[in-house]
Amino acid sequence: MKAAVFHGPKLPLSIEDVELDKPQDREVLIKTVASGVCHSDLHFVDGFYPYPAPAVLGHEAAGIIEEVGKQVTYVKPGDHVICCLSVFCGNCEQCMSGHPNRCSNKAATQRNPSDKPRISQKGKPVNQFLDISSYCEKMLLHENAVVKIREDLPLDRAALIGCGVTTGVGAVLNT
Ligand SMILES: [Zn+2]
Ligand SMILES: [Zn+2]
Repeated sequence: MKAAVFHGPKLPLSIEDVELDKPQDREVLIKTVASGVCHSDLHFVDGFYPYPAPAVLGHEAAGIIEEVGKQVTYVKPGDHVICCLSVFCGNCEQCMSGHPNRCSNKAATQRNPSDKPRISQKGKPVNQFLDISSYCEKMLLHENAVVKIREDLPLDRAALIGCGVTTGVGAVLNT
């Protein structure tokens, strides 16, 4: 499938073929319907923030669940979802006290280093940006990195809730 691949700062993103693995236990495969271009993605392309290449950027997206791992209970194929920047484990002290955005055990939502990477290119790992990488035709995420939404909400607008809307609303309500 096609993705816009980041090869380093000040280089244009390049449309190339990548492979996604099959969903493991609590992972979901999503057809990307819409992805915003957030200014934070541009900061990495412009070199203001470092990020290891190769990578697939993009973190403000919405799509439709295509496949789920064996232990997934939250969503099923066909569900519409927004991607969530703050993947959470659901079991640590922060998660259990109502602050999943401060999860202290995000490692529990990642693959073991010995497992096949979520994204690869000709057998070589490609970094998954912010646990999402939405500049790709599909996304392979932990189920705690999606939020289910109603099906009549247009996905090109829903995508913006993944970063731009929450950033603005959070600033107004919390700062
Ligand atoms: Zn947690
Ligand atoms: Zn963003």
